[in-house]
Amino acid sequence: MPDPALLPPIPPAPRTTVRCRRCGRPLHDPESRILRLGPECRTPDPASAAVPGDQDTLPGLE
Ligand SMILES: [Zn+2]
Repeated sequence: MPDPALLPPIPPAPRTTVRCRRCGRPLHDPESRILRLGPECRTPDPASAAVPGDQDTLPGLE
């Protein structure tokens, strides 16, 4: 059994959990944490982006 003092230190966990502001999932990669958006929420969904014509703004949605 190796001496515990020779083992590499465990990197400290992030103190705050950054969650995606759209879906609320915890973000782990630095870029997503800076943007506060997960990879799947950063790019617009083609299905929802390609809505033809005018559309009323739904309350509670941005
Ligand atoms: Zn998300």
